[in-house]
Amino acid sequence: MCLHGGLLIATVISDMRCPYCNSTDSRVTDSRPDTEDAIIRRRRVCNDCGAKFTTVERVQMRDLMVRKNSGKIEAFDREKLRRSIKLACRNRDVGDEQIEKLVTSIHRRLETETADDTVTSAMVGQMVSDSLLNLDPIAFVRFASVYRKFSRISDFKKIIDQIPEAADDAAVCHLPKTSLF
Ligand SMILES: [Zn+2]
Repeated sequence: MCLHGGLLIATVISDMRCPYCNSTDSRVTDSRPDTEDAIIRRRRVCNDCGAKFTTVERVQMRDLMVRKNSGKIEAFDREKLRRSIKLACRNRDVGDEQIEKLVTSIHRRLETETADDTVTSAMVGQMVSDSLLNLDPIAFVRFASVYRKFSRISDFKKIIDQIPEAADDAAVCHLPKTSLF
């Protein structure tokens, strides 16, 4: 993996604001590196109000931009990616940790598999689709219906026909035991 040009986010510790009182005066009580996801979690205590919170340092290799179908270019938004995956996985047996790992792997692939700093929204959508198909076929169909802007039931039929039977069988045990209302 090529790491040149990498920049470390959130290295300026003194600028870290307490989410409760906005103070910049906090101390680190515990640091845990997560080598698999290339992040460091820091447990902090605010020196002003005593609140405890955690910050995450993540190595960012590039400042990615996303070119949308409309031609508009905007900064890659990791949170937006996480939200759209979380929405597709709602009430499915997919934990926050699995979603975070998925976001990290997609983010990393975008950074390493593209020649320049601008990726297309179609590329991001395809990566999410491929990952969700492996993780949970129902989340895959939900995501595809939004990402490909389904307008007819036949759109669902076409995409459902692409799901291997084995993946569908694997999804059965993932059915939640929660009620909607
Ligand atoms: Zn505080």
